[in-house]
Amino acid sequence: TNPEILRNFCIIAHIDHGKSTLADRMLQATGVVTPREMKAQYLDRMDIERERGITIKSQAVRMPWEVDGQAYALNMIDTPGHVDFTYEVSRSLAACEGALLLVDAAQGIEAQTLANLYLAMENDLTIIPVLNKIDLPAAMPDKYAEELANLIGCEPHEVLRVSGKTGEGVEELLDRIVEQIPAPEGRADAPARAMIFDSVYDSYRGVVTYVRVVDGRLEPRQKIKMMSTGAEHDLLEIGVISPEPIPTEGLGVGEVGYLITGVKDVRQSRVGDTVTSSTRGAEESLGGYEDPKPMVFSGLFPIDGSDYPVLRDALDKLKLNDAALVYEPETSVALGFGFRCGFLGLLHLEIVRERLEREFNLDLISTAPNVIYDVVDESGNARRVTNPSEFPEGKIAQIREPMVACTVIAPSEFIGAIMELCQSRRGQMGGMDYLSQDRVELRYRLPLAEIVFDFFDQLKSRTKGYASLDWKLDGEEEADLVKVDILLQGEKVDAFSAITHRDKAYSYGVMMTGKLRELIPRQQFEVPIQAAIGSRIIARENIRAIRKDVLSKCYGGDISRKRKLLEKQKEGKKRMKMVGRVEVPQEAFIAALSSG
Ligand code: GDP
Ligand code: MG
Repeated sequence: TNPEILRNFCIIAHIDHGKSTLADRMLQATGVVTPREMKAQYLDRMDIERERGITIKSQAVRMPWEVDGQAYALNMIDTPGHVDFTYEVSRSLAACEGALLLVDAAQGIEAQTLANLYLAMENDLTIIPVLNKIDLPAAMPDKYAEELANLIGCEPHEVLRVSGKTGEGVEELLDRIVEQIPAPEGRADAPARAMIFDSVYDSYRGVVTYVRVVDGRLEPRQKIKMMSTGAEHDLLEIGVISPEPIPTEGLGVGEVGYLITGVKDVRQSRVGDTVTSSTRGAEESLGGYEDPKPMVFSGLFPIDGSDYPVLRDALDKLKLNDAALVYEPETSVALGFGFRCGFLGLLHLEIVRERLEREFNLDLISTAPNVIYDVVDESGNARRVTNPSEFPEGKIAQIREPMVACTVIAPSEFIGAIMELCQSRRGQMGGMDYLSQDRVELRYRLPLAEIVFDFFDQLKSRTKGYASLDWKLDGEEEADLVKVDILLQGEKVDAFSAITHRDKAYSYGVMMTGKLRELIPRQQFEVPIQAAIGSRIIARENIRAIRKDVLSKCYGGDISRKRKLLEKQKEGKKRMKMVGRVEVPQEAFIAALSSG
């Protein structure tokens, strides 16, 4: 295909501003999907995406469109909208020349609108501003057209107005894409270079890799090379998606499509990597390749210990489709055998856990998530700690924790509430700007550990749901952190150890010991529950002893009743965990971990 007739674009938007719906309408307007084939959110293929209404894996679709009798091919690249997947978003953007900046006409600009806009600007994309949902009675298109125009520096009348629901304005938008977004440029006779912006595992076809060709040409049956690793593969099939895969005789400069090599693991075909030819390889890769970096760690344990092998197989399978997921076996006194897993963020954790439970029929418990700490001990040895159990005993010279730069956008009446929340989470204010008379953008620098728990929920509840949040990693900082251990009769219960700021250690200790006192049944002897930093006890509760013989309830006589009781007791014991001399039903640990 002549690059002159190609247009590569993506849609960037805050979550729920209507990206998937608009994409559906464009598929219909261009005739790629007939009304009969249409199902809502055609491109969001994973079930879990449809239910949660989020887009995890990006896809690329080719759509024909005619302007003034000239045929064009538009490639729409759908990007994930959530902060956990920022790296994937940035690669999808790098595959485009233009972006539709989509804003809900009843909501205005939100935090992820800005974050994605900045990413698009870093990639030098042509931005087409679009207000969506103009059919809503609550829409204020004039107000928000002005807000949007101010933001990107255009005139309010240049902001397009569409409805993904009714289809209004969609054809005009397609024309605008052809007119304003530049055609791709590249060197047709140079060695092939294509950037991978997504790869997904398909159980029938193996890994399907989505690429944007920058230079040269890729053809079926050729041998290709992944530039980051040097691994070579046979190119079994290459083609475009419109909206199902259509094999072609190759992809040239500026084209977007898929390739299949028969590899079975997405780690061999990683987002950001450059594909070239084995025989006539490019010298330089396209750049921008990064290894996925898990930022949040948590232990995953099967509630039924006999499910451990199922969990292991399930993780192996998920990994085929998720290059960012890492895990290794972990044993816990309280929870038995499980895995220590690393995730891009909390949403990623939730999605993985939900898929494990749903697709593999597992019941899981996860330990409180923590971030990565850089710890230097007294003798100067540095180590990365992803699990409280790896925290060095004894004196510590320095601990550094990951920081994030965070943007909150909200109506100005909530400024006080937001500042209070951010301060209670050890935030430092970076600045504040008014987007319009009544809406502000606040910038804070916060420890990642302070936002991975319930920051977003707190923010939402303190702003009646009006605030939006975006954040990105922003270096590391030294902090006064300690490990708090929870002890049952002097024995450490590993699953409850936590790394916290010194100021918050006490309240964690009080909360956890209190909870366990409620949940752990009384024993034949008194059981102290303590919270400790090293050897210093910071909180304590007691479970008083009982000395009741269960059988004494049966008043002599009835021997069969006695036997039944004994059997019941035995059964109960199976799910008991021993912590030193203390018998604890596993349910107690699970309840303590799951209640917030
Ligand atoms: P995404 O998160 O940006 O992909 O947003 P979705 O396409 O999933 O849309 C979020 C919600 O807004 C859904 O309930 C849609 O039905 C609704 N929606 C999307 N576009 C429109 C529109 O143009 N008008 C109205 N009234 N609702 C819309
Ligand atoms: Mg969506």
